[in-house]
Amino acid sequence: MSLDNHLTTQELRALDAAHHIHPFSDTAEMRAKGARVITRADGVWLQDSEGNRILDGMAGLWCVNIGYGRRELADVAYRQMQQLPFYNTFFMTTHPPAVELSAKLAEIAPGDKNRVFFASGGSDANDTNIRLVRHYWAALGKPDKSVIISRKNGYHGSSVGSASLGGMAPMHAQGGLPIPDITHIDQPHWWAEGGDLSPEEFGLARARQLEEAIDRIGEHRVAAFIAEPVQGAGGVIIPPETYWPEISRICREREILLIADEVITGFGRTGRWFGSETYDIDPDIMTIAKGMSSGYQPIGGSILRESVAQVIEEGGEFNHGYTYSSHPVAAAVALENIRILQEEKIVEQVAEDTAPYLAAKWHMLADHPMVGQARICGMMGALELTPDVAARAPFANTGTVGLMTRERCFANGLVMRHVGDKMIISPPLTISHTEIDRLVELAWQSLDEGMAQAK
Ligand code: PLP
Repeated sequence: MSLDNHLTTQELRALDAAHHIHPFSDTAEMRAKGARVITRADGVWLQDSEGNRILDGMAGLWCVNIGYGRRELADVAYRQMQQLPFYNTFFMTTHPPAVELSAKLAEIAPGDKNRVFFASGGSDANDTNIRLVRHYWAALGKPDKSVIISRKNGYHGSSVGSASLGGMAPMHAQGGLPIPDITHIDQPHWWAEGGDLSPEEFGLARARQLEEAIDRIGEHRVAAFIAEPVQGAGGVIIPPETYWPEISRICREREILLIADEVITGFGRTGRWFGSETYDIDPDIMTIAKGMSSGYQPIGGSILRESVAQVIEEGGEFNHGYTYSSHPVAAAVALENIRILQEEKIVEQVAEDTAPYLAAKWHMLADHPMVGQARICGMMGALELTPDVAARAPFANTGTVGLMTRERCFANGLVMRHVGDKMIISPPLTISHTEIDRLVELAWQSLDEGMAQAK
């Protein structure tokens, strides 16, 4: 039982260093500084083992949409664990939480996205998608249509399949990725890569790379295109307005399935239930996770267009599944989370009030001398740090200033993430105006300190 710590911070750090391998962490640096031990959280506030209160500007890992400390979710998990802690949905079996959550997702998903395949998170959901789209085309008698196109600097997860879909070069470098039949086009990141083009011209040019890739590979070989409506882990890259309409046109005209990875953008983050609605995208499949349970339980999935699901069903048994697909406790908690999002009108509140307020404050950070661009979509935002705002120039040692600024944020009581020299936020959707004011205040102070250190 580790609720009330009986170990000191030093003891926890020593045991952690001895036995715990951390995801995405520089072990040497962590050992030198000691891992930060988070012990509890409430609302948007974390508390560490030394009693410091930290404003969580990242909602954990973009997931705690309804904020920490919602007792209703704990109560539902407790009741479900007593009634049916586990059963699977393999071999023609089901249980009420799986049924009710599937129906609820079909209700809130846009258009004819009616069928759900569950996973435990976004990575395994995207692995499912690789298999789903290949099974789909095989069922239609086109087994050669197996290539999936995605984007450099996109993020779709950390398993072998999903990291291959992603376009993160450091992840590919470890372990010989990507797997075959996955290819990447450039991202629509105007600020860094747009050169002299207007954002609109650049958006079109980057979207047309999809068509060029299809021509190069051959339409008869391409199964699908996958992308995040707004790139999250790549640095909150908000596409120019021309981008998604052109991508949609190409997928439609060229018989390519479109997968919107909504793992971050789903469940209210962009001010609509799904990023696809914000960008008027009509995907064939949507990947979901994170905000579906606000991170209180690990759960993810793929929501399919009715007609796509029908083809897959007609293609015979889908030889795929995870022990924890539609886990009853995770499903019950996700349902309760969605109930709270709906009944408390949290998504509407984001659209009408919180996001516009945050945007106004966030844009003020563009006045900071080290900020080249302050961009925001709903409740996800980024600052481009630069030594030369007019030239949109990168720093010489990419990531150093970002890292320093992140460290200053931490020291000042704010979690902001850095991606290279971008600073990013994605706070709980329930953050208040006062807390937004504090977030922006702490961000400015940390930028000042990061800039001073960089000199
Ligand atoms: N897809 C996107 C867009 C993500 O941002 C993430 C995680 O950050 C994933 C997939 C992977 O999800 P998970 O970490 O739950 O496996």
